[in-house]
Amino acid sequence: MVLDDAAPPPSTDRPLRVAIIGAGPAGIFAADALTRQTDVPVAIDLIDRLPTPFGLVRHGIAPDHAKMRAIRETLHRSLDQPLVRFVGNVEIGVDLSLDELRRHVDAVVYTYGAALDRRLGIPGEELPGSLAATDVVAWYCGHPDADRTRVEAALAGARSVVVIGVGNVALDVARVLARTPEELEPTDMPQHVLDALAAAPVEQVTVLGRRGPAQASFTTQELRELSDMAGATVLVDPVDLELDPGSEERAAADRVVGRNLGVLRGWAEHALDAGRIPLRLRFFRRPVRLHGDDRVTAIEIERTAVDGDGRAVGTGELEVLPADLVVRSVGYRGTPLPGLPLDEGNGTVPHDGTGRVLRDGRPSTGEYVAGWIKRGPTGVVGTNKHDARETVDALLADAVDGTLAVRGDVDDLVTTLQARGAEPVLLEDWRAIDAAEVALGASRGRARTTMHEREALLAAVRAAAPR
Ligand SMILES: Cc1cc2nc3c(=O)[nH]c(=O)nc-3n(C[C@H](O)[C@H](O)[C@H](O)COP(=O)(O)OP(=O)(O)OC[C@H]3O[C@@H](n4cnc5c(N)ncnc54)[C@H](O)[C@@H]3O)c2cc1C
Repeated sequence: MVLDDAAPPPSTDRPLRVAIIGAGPAGIFAADALTRQTDVPVAIDLIDRLPTPFGLVRHGIAPDHAKMRAIRETLHRSLDQPLVRFVGNVEIGVDLSLDELRRHVDAVVYTYGAALDRRLGIPGEELPGSLAATDVVAWYCGHPDADRTRVEAALAGARSVVVIGVGNVALDVARVLARTPEELEPTDMPQHVLDALAAAPVEQVTVLGRRGPAQASFTTQELRELSDMAGATVLVDPVDLELDPGSEERAAADRVVGRNLGVLRGWAEHALDAGRIPLRLRFFRRPVRLHGDDRVTAIEIERTAVDGDGRAVGTGELEVLPADLVVRSVGYRGTPLPGLPLDEGNGTVPHDGTGRVLRDGRPSTGEYVAGWIKRGPTGVVGTNKHDARETVDALLADAVDGTLAVRGDVDDLVTTLQARGAEPVLLEDWRAIDAAEVALGASRGRARTTMHEREALLAAVRAAAPR
């Protein structure tokens, strides 16, 4: 599989040029793994379509998870490495095609995440007032592409909120919507988000799971956090906690499930205090249709039972719940990058098991994949570290055995981008954005306020370094 016998091995004069597409955790961990080894001299371009690094650590992890979001500081250390060049505000497939990119580098690592929401496929899903968790999360985290008008219009009339799904993201959304303004003030949410949440008339939040509590995918830590809410009380119907033998077995065998059940049983004894928002966790309920003419007014749900294989089956028992805002949180999936194969079934890039991209079933020289677009949308930030290292190990093995070689002189990527009028955001530019966000926060007595408009982010760059 050696490409070119005459190609020289990478050297400090001509290191192996690696482009990493996506500066989320997987991309940053991949860059980190490349800089921590000395066998193969490397130079890394860490490219992101946004002017800011960190992927879902900035635009996914809930802003009230301050400790978790602080992982940015650890990730930043890898960006500071001299062998790593952050190149933000460049979308591969839009600003530069994959073919063009590959002419500038010897290898590409795809770490562009899995950002598309999955749909329920039920009538009424398109109505105003029906949103994907991706929409709500992007909005409250200040993602430049968030549809602010749509989310804020839905929120403005939201007395009864229904969140569909029982994973951590569903709990994030339910928790943020039920928090008091005082609880959210110390976060780095954009100011308009704080204002819209404070003005939202939320009176109740219901989280629905198709299956039982033993099949829910939230973590115990995330579940427990619901206990700390200043203005909301978690309620669970004890009937939902009566387990069939299969679920009992699962709870006995899986420590997380057992602990989750312990937490839920504690809540089953709760009574609702006046003046607090009820946050109900309901299991064995699946959505059937959303009601409403020009916006959602209710959701029809069906009671389910779990069969021997742990699947939800309908019982025919229907119920209609009032709902002005329905947020579906039933998973993410990867999207295709033009020129790169994607397994349509699971929304991931096909690879050989260690991260070498497969084209027509065979490893494609110089192409690697890591993170959510490799494994699918599962796992916490740290899961991507091991995953990225596995991918980088494959890349380095290919460089050492000569499968992957340097390809002579190549033009500098950033110079090419600038020459064609693009505005790549480099590390010092990101520092200017960072400083502007801290200054904006300080003006309101906060540690940071996220700037959500791409133009505002770029204006901070231009103000710091007039071009
Ligand atoms: C709502 C939510 C909350 C979460 N909360 C937690 C939590 O509390 N704790 C925890 O440990 N984990 C949490 N996770 C999981 C964690 O965020 C993921 O494991 C992790 O972010 C996946 O890393 P990634 O690098 O594969 O993808 P991402 O973080 O999505 O990064 C992908 C990057 O690629 C960029 N990109 C996409 N397309 C292109 C392109 N064409 N060209 C250039 N760049 C591109 C994107 O802008 C993005 O920056 C959460 C996930 C979600 C969705």
